[in-house]
Parts: sequence; structure tokens; C-alpha cells
Amino acid sequence: MDANEVDRRTKRCDYCRKARIVWAEDVDGNRLPLDADPHPEGNFTLFTEGSDLMAGKLTAGQAAGMRQAGIGTYRRHALSCPESQRWAQSLSARYAKSQRGLRAGRKK
Ligand SMILES: [Zn+2]
Repeated sequence: MDANEVDRRTKRCDYCRKARIVWAEDVDGNRLPLDADPHPEGNFTLFTEGSDLMAGKLTAGQAAGMRQAGIGTYRRHALSCPESQRWAQSLSARYAKSQRGLRAGRKK
């Protein structure tokens, strides 16, 4: 993942108003806030698909291998955000909504 591509998409967290985060979409179409800086315990890799930034979940072994190869791994911002409580609430609401969408047979 090109660091410039991540930089270009970096925003400030709406909750703590300090952290630099990027929004990426996981394989299920959920939007995930990730810290914009790679983290030594990150378990996501970022890549682009068309114009979308995607987050691929890694096993611990995959993540270690990528870091060894010099590729940054990323961590959910909710884990480091001082306002993580608010993330937990908004993300579970978001998740519930996407699950309802799936049950209704709606493609994202
Ligand atoms: Zn934050």
C-alpha cells in the first residue's frame, strides 16, 4: 500500500479530534476506521480496489510476515481512541444496520 495513498485519505477522528484515521471497507462492506499510521500490532492491510480503500483482515502470521517484508499493518482506531466508547456505540449501530440490509437481500 502506497503511504501517499493513505495520506491522501487521512481524516481527523470526529470523536477525539486528534488522531489521524482512514476509513476503509472490509470484505463484508462495513466501513472501518483505522489509524492512519501503521502499527506494530496491526491486523489489517490496506489496498485499493478501483477508487475504494479496502481493509483486509490478517491472521497474526500474515501480519508478521507483511511487517517483515516492510509493509505496514494497520489497527482499528477504536482500539487507540480515547473516545473508544463512542466508537463502540456508533459501530455497533452501523453493523446492525448493515445486517438488516443483508437480510433484506439488498446488495450494498
Ligand atoms: Zn479518535
